[in-house]
Amino acid sequence: MAQNPFASAMSQLQTAARAMNLAPSLLKALQKPQRILDVAIPVRMDDGSTKVFNGYRVQFNDARGPFKGGIRYHWDTNLNEVKALAFWMAMKCAVVGIPYGGAKGGITVDPKQLSLGELERLSRGWVQAMFKYIGPWQDVPAPDIYTTPQIMAWMVDEYSKQAGQWSPAAFTGKPIEVGGSEGRMFSTSQGGFYVLEELAKKMKFVPRRTLVAIQGFGNVGAFAAEIFHQAGYVVVAVSDSKGGIVNLKGLDVPAVWKHKEATGSVQGFAGTKPIDNKKILELPIHVLVPSALEGVITGANASRIKAKAILELANGPTTPEADVKLFKRKIPVVPDILANAGGVTGSYFEWAQNLNGVHWTEREVLTKLKPIMVESFDAVWKMAERHQVNLRTGAYMVAIDRIAKAMKLRGRV
Ligand code: GLU
Repeated sequence: MAQNPFASAMSQLQTAARAMNLAPSLLKALQKPQRILDVAIPVRMDDGSTKVFNGYRVQFNDARGPFKGGIRYHWDTNLNEVKALAFWMAMKCAVVGIPYGGAKGGITVDPKQLSLGELERLSRGWVQAMFKYIGPWQDVPAPDIYTTPQIMAWMVDEYSKQAGQWSPAAFTGKPIEVGGSEGRMFSTSQGGFYVLEELAKKMKFVPRRTLVAIQGFGNVGAFAAEIFHQAGYVVVAVSDSKGGIVNLKGLDVPAVWKHKEATGSVQGFAGTKPIDNKKILELPIHVLVPSALEGVITGANASRIKAKAILELANGPTTPEADVKLFKRKIPVVPDILANAGGVTGSYFEWAQNLNGVHWTEREVLTKLKPIMVESFDAVWKMAERHQVNLRTGAYMVAIDRIAKAMKLRGRV
């Protein structure tokens, strides 16, 4: 994990602020979250003892609509990381023009060490601690790393109990049976696919001759591998937290899924060579897709990247030093706040359905998702071209412009 993701986020903001000549008062308003909630969550463990966990919610900016963003369960997560992720959510929602601000939550925990009952009590505890500050028109949480539809089901149940009424629009990423949306499970990856298709047009990549490596095989990476493979792209390497596999002729992705389900890892899949999580970034391929944690492409390894383009499905995988080097080497990096925005866009559809008491088909959802991703890619690409900046700065310029307008209209600056 990166040393200081929030410092990286602020450095990205500075670069964009300079490029667009942002007013100092606006810059200042975007450098600090509106609210930080840092709470203790006591949980009764199965052995009768009580353990206290650290929980967070950082509400960065809500000028454009209710705060929005996932909750991360990870042994390494901390307030600094959650702050960076909250800031990126505000930018992300603005890039794709959905009516939300940005927030992020977290709990420092290794969820694999908890029993199902402990996990449920911990999740309900997070909601009890945050109850006053969240809700359909205040702040709408969702899943992130190691949080699942089941966890969202417990959370929406707890919220509804506290509120005294069924409140499905308080959380997104729920199971279909309790108000979830078709397509939300894979909307991050599907949105990433629409962006990949646009990138491929610009780079003149033809799917069957385009080699792709994906770091991360979780909520995002596993679906990306599947969707890209189905569309004819050649997925040559994938990895999970334990390590990766490579075969430059291409992987049978559905078979890798089965292998992971059976053994708990992608490792050891027949006909592949092992590769570690660092080396997978340096393969001679066309598109590198970091889909796990932040800070993996750095000033130290950027010069060894052989991919012709990078599609960031993780949040914050590339450090500012790496960005400078990759831009010089003319390797486009489609930034997280654009490339992975299909996730929160899927959440927006879920929230909109819940508020209206309706349920859309998967087809309806995907028909609405595609133009949002394609038009956002286009706006970012044009902005970057016009100002001769990288795609990340272009995306920030699109986002900041929208947030700034909302802040001015609401009299906040
Ligand atoms: N955790 C996802 C993200 O980083 C989704 C957030 C949401 O749906 O609110 O974009």
